[in-house]
Amino acid sequence: MIDTHCHLDFNNYDDDREDVIKETIEGGVHRMINIGIDEKTSINSLELSEKYDNIFAAIGYHPHSASEFNKQVQDKLERLAQHPKAIAIGEIGLDYYRNYSPREDQINAFRRQIRLAADLELPIVVHIREAMEESLKILKEEKAYERGGVLHCFPGDYGDSQRALDMNLLVAFGGTMTFKNARALKVAEKVPLKQIILETDAPFLTPVPFRGKRNSPLYVHYVYKKLAEIKEIDFAELEKKIDKNAVSLFNLA
Ligand SMILES: [Zn+2]
Repeated sequence: MIDTHCHLDFNNYDDDREDVIKETIEGGVHRMINIGIDEKTSINSLELSEKYDNIFAAIGYHPHSASEFNKQVQDKLERLAQHPKAIAIGEIGLDYYRNYSPREDQINAFRRQIRLAADLELPIVVHIREAMEESLKILKEEKAYERGGVLHCFPGDYGDSQRALDMNLLVAFGGTMTFKNARALKVAEKVPLKQIILETDAPFLTPVPFRGKRNSPLYVHYVYKKLAEIKEIDFAELEKKIDKNAVSLFNLA
């Protein structure tokens, strides 16, 4: 199993980070991608990746922090992304639900980081909330299909997933798929396996049966289990297929 999206550097884990990572690896999750949301967390992600063979890092500015993004920041990110364990640019994207940064700033940071990923030949990890149309439009204009990437915690419908597939973009499902009557579940039923990877977004979006508690990359197990159930295939077979998608997208050693 691979957790393609987690935030183990967040202070939610300050008391027991080492234990959480150890128990995750022992539980069969052999790769984790720790995702940056700004400069500090991108550096933290790299530090974790240096400490643990099983952890890789994504470098990027989340739309929430987009108002702080500028040329200087971009140059710093570019330097950080040269690290051998920096395997993606993210998370980047648009969040028109919270609007913590003005929309023009979000669009600017999104576009510039897609271009940065293209220059560095890295895939992108995209966060979209209440901004599917605009995001897909920008991804197309910026030729995201050349490098590929993933729409994390996929918030769209089946049609959106097909438009993403046309642009060489995978979709990632997480803990919300285990919730009762989850929309993500209905979408995941129809999306072809070759387009899917899985994630936790830990410490957030904890799957059933731990919903409401702090999430852990270990719990990606429940997401794999749910997907195997709805696709009606054997867990081991599903794991092999999904992990192959993640390894190939992120070029994981
Ligand atoms: Zn995240």
